[in-house]
Amino acid sequence: MVVRVIPVDPFDLVIFGGTGDLARRKIFPGLYRRFQAGQIPAEARIIGAARGEHDDDEFRGMIAESIAEFVPEARRDADSLGAFLQRLFYIAIDARGEQGWAQLKQTMRIDVVQAYYFSVAPALFGDIAERLTSHGIAGPEARIVVEKPFGRDLASARALNATLALHFAEGQIYRIDHYLGKETVQNLMAVRFANILFEPLWKSEYIDHVQITVAETVGVDGRGAYYDKSGAMRDMVQNHLMQLLCLIAMEPPYHFDPDAVRDEKLKVIRALDPVPSHDIVRGQYLAGSGEGGYLEHSENPQSRTESYIALKVAISNWRWKGTPFYLRTGKRLRARASEIAVTFREPPHSIFDDAEGWRENVLVIRLQPDEGMHLMVMIKEPGPGGMRLTQVPLDMSFAEALGPEAEDVPDAYERLIMDVIRGNQTLFMRGDEVEAAWAWTDPIIEGWEERSDRPQPYDAGTSGPEDALMLMHRDGRRWREIR
Ligand code: NAD
Repeated sequence: MVVRVIPVDPFDLVIFGGTGDLARRKIFPGLYRRFQAGQIPAEARIIGAARGEHDDDEFRGMIAESIAEFVPEARRDADSLGAFLQRLFYIAIDARGEQGWAQLKQTMRIDVVQAYYFSVAPALFGDIAERLTSHGIAGPEARIVVEKPFGRDLASARALNATLALHFAEGQIYRIDHYLGKETVQNLMAVRFANILFEPLWKSEYIDHVQITVAETVGVDGRGAYYDKSGAMRDMVQNHLMQLLCLIAMEPPYHFDPDAVRDEKLKVIRALDPVPSHDIVRGQYLAGSGEGGYLEHSENPQSRTESYIALKVAISNWRWKGTPFYLRTGKRLRARASEIAVTFREPPHSIFDDAEGWRENVLVIRLQPDEGMHLMVMIKEPGPGGMRLTQVPLDMSFAEALGPEAEDVPDAYERLIMDVIRGNQTLFMRGDEVEAAWAWTDPIIEGWEERSDRPQPYDAGTSGPEDALMLMHRDGRRWREIR
């Protein structure tokens, strides 16, 4: 199967923070891949805007180095790279001062799509939004892309929404959660809503529980100061895991349209119960394999920040009452693995004697590595020996089913940037969604801060703290293995 490329309209895309880590690792390599795919029209321009004096050629040299570092050799070629670099320009700009803004105004065209990507520290979002309008740079249709973190609690998220709203309408603001740009995450919606097979069973009557896991092997190395003010709840659960939960739990939207989808996600977030402290396990990794434990990377030797969290979450609505969602995420775990596993209930009555061989049906949606889905089903064990049962996966690995080209699908950032140019907000968080997510998160964090809870230590390279196992065991359930 050939991956279709739908060209976008001509655009001027400004990357504020164009010399930063995210721009170098994700944004420019992603744009280069879209350029190679033929999706970037000839008239498009990409303008890096950051602190630091560079001319266009120096900036092109920096981006060429990033692409050499972050795009595999087999996917680069000198001709396309040379042509791509010619689309790049640079403006030295001060988000908090006057330098560069007049030049940016002169540079921007009014007859093409204008997009401004804020890949800078969140403290600068308001300054940039303000200058884009006060200098008359951003046209009425301009779009801004805002990186995470979007606030650190409800009050700061509200304040940021209010600041952006002074300068841009909600329909112009694209709050990125790159998890929503992942192929499998969108496939989850296709599987749920383009097949009759799953939806009739998609409720507490037939689903026993859902597990959402985002396990990382990396630690906080080098980001200790930032992470210490955040922790796994703010950094991962409030945004990424919450978005995954919403896509599993939401009602079918009336149409695959930005507000229809986001309305349904918002209803899920509002239906989340407060989480009691006995349904939360926080952890902090200890040293392992010589890389140092969490505290050695933190500026605070007494830090109580969690690098791991597991929670049992209840959704109070007709569809999900009685079906818990278990969420866990952590750093320095055994393997890098993100997946959603939907475990179905037992059939009401078994006609087979082989009770031992029986296992639940599980739909596993794998986000990384090996993106794909499989459905664990029961079949008869082959051969003689009576009716014995065994579990096998019905595999929906995209690469196998769709051919090798399917592996070449755009990564999350590539897809999301192209969505911004197309003006499609479906895979971006709306302001009220982010606020609702913080409104649910705040009391949980306040609870452990009031109690001065310490996270439990866990060894690096394991599957997390012991108590996280108990969170499931006491309900007669088990976490899936992280591998
Ligand atoms: P970074 O520190 O590497 O880069 C910051 C960029 O901002 C640089 O280009 C710098 O020149 C520019 N800058 C700083 N002060 C400025 C000013 N006053 N005026 C104009 N430009 C200024 O940061 P980063 O890691 O690239 O992160 C950028 C944003 O993306 C942050 O909001 C971060 O939270 C978010 N983010 C980063 C990652 C990542 O992997 N790096 C992942 C997710 C989200």
